[in-house]
Amino acid sequence: MEFKNGEKYICLLAPSFVTEFEYPEIVYRLRMLGFDKVMEVTFGAKMTNMTYYSVLKDSIDKGEKKTWIASPCPTIVNYIKVKYPELIPNLVPVHSPMGCMGLICRKLYPEYKVVFVGPCMTKKLEAKEVGTIDEVLTFKELETLFKERNIPDKVEESKYWISFDKFYNDYTKIYPISGGLSATLNYSNLFKESEILVMEGLNDLMKVFEGFKDGVYKHYKFLDVLNCKGGCINGPGMLATTSVSERRKKVLEYREFARRYEKDLGRSGKKIDAEGINFNRKF
Ligand code: SF4
Repeated sequence: MEFKNGEKYICLLAPSFVTEFEYPEIVYRLRMLGFDKVMEVTFGAKMTNMTYYSVLKDSIDKGEKKTWIASPCPTIVNYIKVKYPELIPNLVPVHSPMGCMGLICRKLYPEYKVVFVGPCMTKKLEAKEVGTIDEVLTFKELETLFKERNIPDKVEESKYWISFDKFYNDYTKIYPISGGLSATLNYSNLFKESEILVMEGLNDLMKVFEGFKDGVYKHYKFLDVLNCKGGCINGPGMLATTSVSERRKKVLEYREFARRYEKDLGRSGKKIDAEGINFNRKF
């Protein structure tokens, strides 16, 4: 990736970053690389959740008999499109956290180029489809850039003043862990815990998709599904130098650390920041 003179750049950092890079050093290293703003994608995840809630509530209020399938994983979406097109209407028609943040940035910072940095190759395809993300880098590609441009691993503590730019620090930091979407969806008014199926891996999911009858899978109302075992903390674009369980622990520790020790300083996203943006999409 090239940073062009005269252009301004936003980095949207997927919350699984904490499993691969030191925090808060990573934010400063990204600035040294050339990003003008560095944001978490967690506010986008909150918007995904809020829009999911209204789509699912509307469906339940209308009395629809349907098992909804979570759609933030482009690998699952593409698999359904190719192998099970009859299930396309079951995909929740809402942008992923990356898609939502792309729309938010286009509205609030239209003069910036928006670059998503995360654990996944297939996000590159999604970015092309949605058109609001200018470039996608995997964590592996980011590490290569750091090396090529001699960005040090460590940053002097005296250089710390504030870590992320707005938007930062939402409860959706656990989104990259399997089940993170439903755990932050606040679904108690929509369905029971036993009506949610959390699952990963295309081999197992294939059996589930084949078990659908007339748009319904068994007694389930919502499938919180991802391609990678353990969730996006085990994505194909990661350096993955630790075990999945260690990575899971890191995400939970980071959420706890930010909740306890990081000041808000007006950096968390509010509903009003996204007012007027339509986060629904079509598949
Ligand atoms: S589960 Fe894997 S393939 Fe799906 S979005 Fe996450 S990292 Fe990408």
